[in-house]
Amino acid sequence: MNTPRKLPNILDLYPEETRDAAALLKKAVPLMMRHNIPPNPVHYALWYTYSKGLEPELNRRLDKAVADFDSFPVETAAKLFREFIIHGELAEARAGQQQVIELVDDIESNVSCSITGSSNYQISLEHGLAALQEPVIDDLPGVLTELQESTQLMQEQQTKFLYRLNSAQEEIKILRSQLERAHVAATLDNLTQVFNRNAFSRLLEQALQAGHEGLALVMLDIDHFKQFNDQYGHPLGDRVLQHVGQLLRESLPPRAIAARYGGEEFCIILRDCPDTTNAHAFAEQLRLKIQALRIKVRRTDEVLNSITASFGFALAAPDDDLESLLTRADDALYKAKREGRNQVNPILVQAALQA
Ligand code: GH3
Ligand code: MG
Ligand code: MG
Repeated sequence: MNTPRKLPNILDLYPEETRDAAALLKKAVPLMMRHNIPPNPVHYALWYTYSKGLEPELNRRLDKAVADFDSFPVETAAKLFREFIIHGELAEARAGQQQVIELVDDIESNVSCSITGSSNYQISLEHGLAALQEPVIDDLPGVLTELQESTQLMQEQQTKFLYRLNSAQEEIKILRSQLERAHVAATLDNLTQVFNRNAFSRLLEQALQAGHEGLALVMLDIDHFKQFNDQYGHPLGDRVLQHVGQLLRESLPPRAIAARYGGEEFCIILRDCPDTTNAHAFAEQLRLKIQALRIKVRRTDEVLNSITASFGFALAAPDDDLESLLTRADDALYKAKREGRNQVNPILVQAALQA
């Protein structure tokens, strides 16, 4: 059984006060500009961390990458990001991904602040120059002019940078919707549109961590499905699974979660089940709905009315973990199978509770 990894809280990696964070950014941003590194969430995080200097190995590898290549390779950035910033958790860390995006939003507002700051600096210099019509020291106006020019240059560079940052915002929007889509693809079962097994294990683990009280696990398995496939073909079998998925989605009580656990096996996490009554009633209703399914064979117009499923369920006991709860629900399900199928078997649940 897979134990889900704890999601990293990426903001924990950036505990600095805003002023310190801005100081680090002031270091990071010119470095990125100097090496012509495009502004995107991954690069910000890397160069921000570089400026902090707490990861010597990261700094060494970044130094090497900018020395070795004309343009900073995307693969290197992605690799370093996974290794040093999120420690390989990105694929599963939706919350982490969101936090990276928020971090970049933060960075953008800091850069905007620094542009305002440099504008103010330029204005004060202009005032200073105006006041110094009569030079006290021969080359003071020259020095100040030079300073003004360099400030202006800095401002131009930053304006250019802000422009690039704005276009990075567009990239961020795209990235965000890509992440959403990737997240859906990673958690939903394609055929039935209920959660897949991986997501289910994670959600059940979380549910158990939140508290065992009132938690029930229902398992169902379609009866004689192999025979069904053999007789009517796999595509029609797939349609049956889609119908069952839809029934599940439509039948879920509040806070319940449905998942496809295996081929023709589904699991439902129920809350608000202080005893067996609610879980039993839910499973029985679902059993009747599946039994009432009428599926038309397109080729022959035959209407199939023989789809049934067997159910088992278990209430979470205080010392249950994911595996023990699943095993009990599974045992109950297979008792329902042995006793004739198309039924919800409460007997083993009672026995398990007494055991
Ligand atoms: P039982 O009543 O004991 O559960 O019998 P069964 O035939 O349903 O159980 P068995 O485990 O022998 O067979 C399960 C079948 O489910 C075998 C496989 O062809 C079918 N199956 C699994 N996944 C899919 C799928 O994605 N699509 C289709 N069409 N069939 C699937
Ligand atoms: Mg099965
Ligand atoms: Mg089956």
